[in-house]
Amino acid sequence: MAKSVGVTLSEQVFTGFVVDHALVGALRRFPEDEDEYSALVEMPTEALVETICTQVVAVAQGNKVLDAVGVAVPGLVKNGVIEEAPNLPQLKGARLRDMITGKLKEQGIAAPVTILNDADGVAAGLAARHGKLDSMIRVWTLGMGIGFGRYPFSPGVWEGGHTVVTLDEKEAYCGCGGRGHLEGVMGHRSMRLRFLDMEPEEVFEAAKKGESRCVEFKKLYHKALAAATASSIHMAGPGKFFLTGPYVSFVDLPMLKDYTQQMVKMSPLQGYSLEIVDENPDTRVIGSAVTAEQAAGL
Ligand SMILES: [Zn+2]
Repeated sequence: MAKSVGVTLSEQVFTGFVVDHALVGALRRFPEDEDEYSALVEMPTEALVETICTQVVAVAQGNKVLDAVGVAVPGLVKNGVIEEAPNLPQLKGARLRDMITGKLKEQGIAAPVTILNDADGVAAGLAARHGKLDSMIRVWTLGMGIGFGRYPFSPGVWEGGHTVVTLDEKEAYCGCGGRGHLEGVMGHRSMRLRFLDMEPEEVFEAAKKGESRCVEFKKLYHKALAAATASSIHMAGPGKFFLTGPYVSFVDLPMLKDYTQQMVKMSPLQGYSLEIVDENPDTRVIGSAVTAEQAAGL
């Protein structure tokens, strides 16, 4: 019976005690108050590590030895080091695995620590929830940015949100500065830059009413996601794709399936499926723990 702790780091830190892929006890959140969401961004790395460890100790129910601790971070992670974290810039370059391992030891807890990309945590959590821990799944998380997660963990970069989906030279809205990227079409910031006078919700509302500029954008949005999905299928094979995140309500699944079908024609690759699912902090925390357990060889 594996006893682990899962942590996710975004605007808040969510922490939970996970036994055999299920949460035991309530999730802890920090900061609790929505007004204090900016607290994490302003917190120096040392203090953030301290906060994470305090939360781990609080949920561990007195266990001094844990099978694994998984910490999901929005960014590019390699061997326990944060290479890039646009939303928590202070973490860039931080050897987060070593820092958390050391701080937990000071607090009397021994555990192998794994740092993972947050979208990979979502993928692992969804795999656990949907009974797919023995198959490959991929997930698109549609939020402020476009996350791409895959389960099981496989070494690599996997910046799927920056898949090139258009050769149009005017398509340069991605926050990373790259031209033609998926996030440059579907990301919140890029939608705001494209429609300076409209919120994304209003764009999709107007598309329903037939306003031509918005109808054209809705097509581009779905073609872009279909293109990135098709590229992933052509590189890694067919399988299950989950779509989730705060903006998944913009997705018109029949339209997405239609475009994807036009882009994937080789019959051995057609055994893929696209499914919209909701996810929540519970799923993410379980996913962090499951990923850490697998990294620890459990
Ligand atoms: Zn980009």
